[in-house]
Amino acid sequence: MTDKVRVRFAPSPTGRLHLGGARTAIYNWAFARANGGTFVLRIDDTDPERSTQENTDQILRSLTWLGLDWDEGPGAGGDRGPYFQTQRADHYRAALRRLAETGHAYPCFCTPEELEAAREQARARGDSFLGYQRTCRDLDPDVARARIEAGEPHVWRLRVPDDHEPVVVHDIVHGDAVFDVHELDDMVLMRSDGTPTYNFATVVDDGEMGITHIIRGDDHLSNTPRQILVFEALGFPVPAFAHLSMILGPDGKKLSKRHGATSVEEYRDRGYLPEAMVNYLALLGWSLDGQTTIVPPEQICRTFSLERISKNPSVFDEKKLEWMNGEYLNAMSDERFSREVLVPQLAAAGLVGRDAYTPERAAWFDLLSSVLKPRTTHTGDVVEKARFLFEGATVTFDEKSVEKNLAKPGTRALVAAARAALEALGEGDWVAERIDGALEPLPERLGASKRKLFQAVRVAECGNQVSPPLGESMQLLGRENSLARLTAAEEIAGE
Ligand code: GLU
Repeated sequence: MTDKVRVRFAPSPTGRLHLGGARTAIYNWAFARANGGTFVLRIDDTDPERSTQENTDQILRSLTWLGLDWDEGPGAGGDRGPYFQTQRADHYRAALRRLAETGHAYPCFCTPEELEAAREQARARGDSFLGYQRTCRDLDPDVARARIEAGEPHVWRLRVPDDHEPVVVHDIVHGDAVFDVHELDDMVLMRSDGTPTYNFATVVDDGEMGITHIIRGDDHLSNTPRQILVFEALGFPVPAFAHLSMILGPDGKKLSKRHGATSVEEYRDRGYLPEAMVNYLALLGWSLDGQTTIVPPEQICRTFSLERISKNPSVFDEKKLEWMNGEYLNAMSDERFSREVLVPQLAAAGLVGRDAYTPERAAWFDLLSSVLKPRTTHTGDVVEKARFLFEGATVTFDEKSVEKNLAKPGTRALVAAARAALEALGEGDWVAERIDGALEPLPERLGASKRKLFQAVRVAECGNQVSPPLGESMQLLGRENSLARLTAAEEIAGE
């Protein structure tokens, strides 16, 4: 790449950052990183009714959480700002002045009623073109100036050159699309209240910010030929375009709230890791080699290329995301899992203090992490799986588990034998391996099935039949509580 890559993500703060927007941001970020380029974040807050500070904050938070650091934009500085469209009014005015001076823009005084009447007439004539009929395009400039000076309301329109070759959009994802300029309206650049339209503001910004590649959703594909005309009129180089196909829900319709959670923060709150989200979303339309599924963010930003973006829509599959999240959780070191997942989750549930991960207790948490990691698909899962460890000498029983495993006749003797065997282990021997070793010979000795004995002890210790492995669970519980729970279980075990 000879020109230094500059890309931008330009969300409108009219809602939260949703999965589609996050994917667009990821592709821009990854493309910048893969090419040693610059990732610009611009806030397209020109819609005053629907843009809110809260949405802006939420978008910035989501991007930060995902790890998509931007080089220029809110909080990051940069010399091509400001990076909020509402702060760029003078840039749009200056750009319009340039276009007016060079004859690329002209004022239009048609009222909405006149525009509608002209459209009706065109329809009545059977005209296929129902856009603006260019009524004011050839007004005498002096007359136009006088009307403006007299305070007559007007918009500014782009003078689409009559003799312009068809506009070719070279889209890296979708290939070339050709547009006849006669199908392209003399569109409004500046409204009568002095605010720029999206197609004008975005081109002024992209041009002034030196954007080399525009990567965005394909809902903007139809705007692109118009924007190309504006780039040309302003004398900016036309950037390269890559329009991303939609993300569909499992029912084949565009992913939306109907399909459940769609905002990034909802996924965060439901226990997904940012790395898993970035990996999963990146693969909704891009692939490393067509088969690798685990591609961590740092690898995405080394290997990302626009050529490997698919033009087919992709389908969001929460099960796959869940699976991927589990893979990322399981791949964490015990220590990282303890610090970033286990302790914060337990603390949020009030089971431990926020600073519980002390040097003295680190080994305990890390052991718990090692047994929970493979059983966790959402960060919050750890709370219910670990709760039995925080109940001291007694445990809350799951009734069904008791019925199936403890209440059956002949169980009491098994629990008593297990307790006797375990009592023989001293405090210093209270480790998973020795605990398992002490229980191991019992089934044969007592003529009971292995399953029956182990499930009875498991329910006695953990309250249910789906706990982490028994030896580790009892080690974590400690000798005293483990033995106390067996004693208590004997009382309710079937004779
Ligand atoms: N603010 C626009 C949007 O959120 C950005 C469009 C663009 O990337 O040009 O849809």
